[in-house]
Amino acid sequence: MTSLAPAAFAGSPASGLICRECGHRTPLAPVHVCTECFAPLEVEYDEAKLKLVTRASIEAGPQTIWRYAGLLPAGQDVETRVDLGAGMTKLREAPNLAKALGMRKLWVKDDSGNPTHSFKDRVVSVALSAARAFGYDTVSCASTGNLANSVAAHATHVGLRAVVFIPSDLEQGKVVQTAVYGQTLVAVDGTYDDVNRLCSEIAEQEEWAFVNVNVRPYYAEGSKTLGYEVAEQLGWRLPQQVVIPMASGSLLTKVDKAFRELSKLGLVDASPYKVFGAQATGCSPIATAFENGWDTVKPVKPNTIAKSLAIGNPADGPYALDVVRRTGGAMGHVSDEEVVEGISLLAETEGVFAETAGGVTVATLRQLLKTGRVDPDAETVLYNTGDGLKTIEATALTSVPTVTIAPSYSAFAKSGAAG
Ligand SMILES: *Cc1c(COP(=O)(O)O)cnc(C)c1O
Ligand SMILES: [Zn+2]
Repeated sequence: MTSLAPAAFAGSPASGLICRECGHRTPLAPVHVCTECFAPLEVEYDEAKLKLVTRASIEAGPQTIWRYAGLLPAGQDVETRVDLGAGMTKLREAPNLAKALGMRKLWVKDDSGNPTHSFKDRVVSVALSAARAFGYDTVSCASTGNLANSVAAHATHVGLRAVVFIPSDLEQGKVVQTAVYGQTLVAVDGTYDDVNRLCSEIAEQEEWAFVNVNVRPYYAEGSKTLGYEVAEQLGWRLPQQVVIPMASGSLLTKVDKAFRELSKLGLVDASPYKVFGAQATGCSPIATAFENGWDTVKPVKPNTIAKSLAIGNPADGPYALDVVRRTGGAMGHVSDEEVVEGISLLAETEGVFAETAGGVTVATLRQLLKTGRVDPDAETVLYNTGDGLKTIEATALTSVPTVTIAPSYSAFAKSGAAG
């Protein structure tokens, strides 16, 4: 393993890493905290290289996140790129849901269509491409479920070894969808935050690429593609409002970063937009800070069915607060009961079955409309970040057969199911 940017980063528009707090610069390396002030590092780009990207060059690219390779930190070299086909998921017009909510124009960016059925395939594809470029042979992560699914699948696809850590109380779908690839899966009796702390300790001992530790700056950039795609799919323009689920808060900050980059590069006309953040009440440290006007996020112990969002100590919480405040958006949080209602509402109006995170987002949108924070007349994009089949526990008790009958016509006729 090499410590400085190896040849495999040739072609990358990234110029290095920069501290989000003090601005201290570091060359491209598998590090995530500033040596001067211990704040998180972020990828910095060479503006001249980003400017080489045009609408035409993007449109000529593959139907995956890699059409935006010129705006990402790693994966330009197709030899080390890790690609299961993430990205270019459907942007669905949602007229029935819009009507049910009293909105004029609503879209659902539906990331359930990714290879392992959540938006995490975007970040993992970029993170593992960076890990390979740095020469690692083992990748690891702490996960609330979807990251585990995606890391195990992508690592297997390219012959990397994966050691994945999850809380032991995850949904069965998430456990099976990680274990099935035959990699090492370590279930830990504790919360995600306990698992994450353990991973940071292990990271000091093992020469592995930890997706959300030492290669986190590269990982996080993958989320920008959820901003790029929405703009491209709208015909190269920005929506007026976006509603985004928050775990660590990273995705929300990166959609905003993508919109600002596209405007700055002239790929879209700069137009105002508002960013809204969604959490479950049982784990709402960022939304609670917003509600109370705090600049810092107070850690909580998660207790919600929205396990994919259950990060009690969210690393990007303060940055998510900044984005929402700067753009004039808002945050909200909803009960587990409302999460299930949100899943049902999206399914029954649009035929889209969302993960609990999607239920959180639909229910939060409904709440923010009621409180007047979201403008019902402004064009809005709601992000559905995962597939409902991953979290069937949430709806298993309410989504049941209309009737159960004997296999005879008379039983059917008597059942009332003919309507
Ligand atoms: C991880 C995840 C998110 C949000 O992740 P951030 O940590 O906020 O970037 C949203 N939805 C789903 C389904 C997830 O798995
Ligand atoms: Zn610093």
